[in-house]
Amino acid sequence: MIRRVHGCSSAKCLPRGLLAAFLSLFVSAHAQSPTPETAPTELKPKAKIRLLGSEVPPSTRKRLLWTSGTAIEGFASPVPVIVLNGSGPGPVLCLTAAVHGDELNGIEVVRRVLDDVDVEELNGAIIGVPIVNIQGFYRGTRYLPDRRDLNRHFPGNARGSAATRMAHSFFTEVVRHCSALIDLHTGSLNRTNLPQVRANLNIPSVARMTQAFGATVVLHSIGDKSSLRRAATEAGIPSVTFEMGEPMRVQPEQVEHGAKAIETLMYSLGMTRQRRYWGDPEPVYYASKWVRVDHGGILFSDVALGERVSEGELLGVVTDPISNKQHRIYAPTSGRILGMALNQVVLPGFAAYRIGTETSKSTAIRDSAEESEETADEEEPMADEEGEPRG
Ligand SMILES: [Zn+2]
Repeated sequence: MIRRVHGCSSAKCLPRGLLAAFLSLFVSAHAQSPTPETAPTELKPKAKIRLLGSEVPPSTRKRLLWTSGTAIEGFASPVPVIVLNGSGPGPVLCLTAAVHGDELNGIEVVRRVLDDVDVEELNGAIIGVPIVNIQGFYRGTRYLPDRRDLNRHFPGNARGSAATRMAHSFFTEVVRHCSALIDLHTGSLNRTNLPQVRANLNIPSVARMTQAFGATVVLHSIGDKSSLRRAATEAGIPSVTFEMGEPMRVQPEQVEHGAKAIETLMYSLGMTRQRRYWGDPEPVYYASKWVRVDHGGILFSDVALGERVSEGELLGVVTDPISNKQHRIYAPTSGRILGMALNQVVLPGFAAYRIGTETSKSTAIRDSAEESEETADEEEPMADEEGEPRG
């Protein structure tokens, strides 16, 4: 499942199959009670990492810069890429955040995880990119300056649109050096998500990864076409999306869950010795459905994120501000609110509540299949190539 890293001459690059075996061994066997002494010393010798024209020796933390080459050169905003090359062998875990420039929780998660790691005690390496879409970040928007959604253009193309070129540059220069990737997101456009992992559970190495995030919600989805997660997974790099909270805010509880989940994964992979404790360390697999509003107006919710609801329970009310007509939204099924719209003006068809039903991993795959076209979203709605919102 793991391919040899293109253009990577470092011994950090594991041959195909080796990391898969490694992930399999460590994640499945040690997710619940990992033992650091089983660190994979035979997998990879200590070696320098070569990335973005620099070398990072073992036991070193270094800040590099990635420039997409899509801005006016004199105004280019280089994107910081922080590399922690550990003292021992192990996987190269990549953490990316703010591919959507207004999604802030992940930025703090990456900072916190990198800050907590002691490179002298790290096995493998971490490549952290706290703000991938730095132009969107400066402007407080999800999109690139041309209104395109960067997360719909991977793995990119060197001769395509600005977004496609940027995606290609990032994918080639950074992502291809990863042996596993976690892309951090939040709900989009005034929606919020319970901390959750989105992953293509059909792929064994990805499914094994989802077992190691502690007590975290896991949803099966193959991922949007041309999303970073899907493109990386298709390139042989086991990848998941980690969703938490809402855009434009930094939310302490969401950030804490995200950092704890990633540190749990690193421990399970034998990368660190810092064990994080969970009351119940098991992942929780859900099948989910969106509940859409059928009438436009102002939405007020009666339920909260993470709440468990029963079939027929009132979820919220949409009130027409002119006619005063009210339309109640009821839960079509029992389950848990995994994602929801914040109170706002909505149009008919707006996806307002994502209700999850607890299930097994295999059932999550089967039940998601039939609605994957509609809701296999990282965050919907999205902009299409013309930049017109849809969904
Ligand atoms: Zn996002």
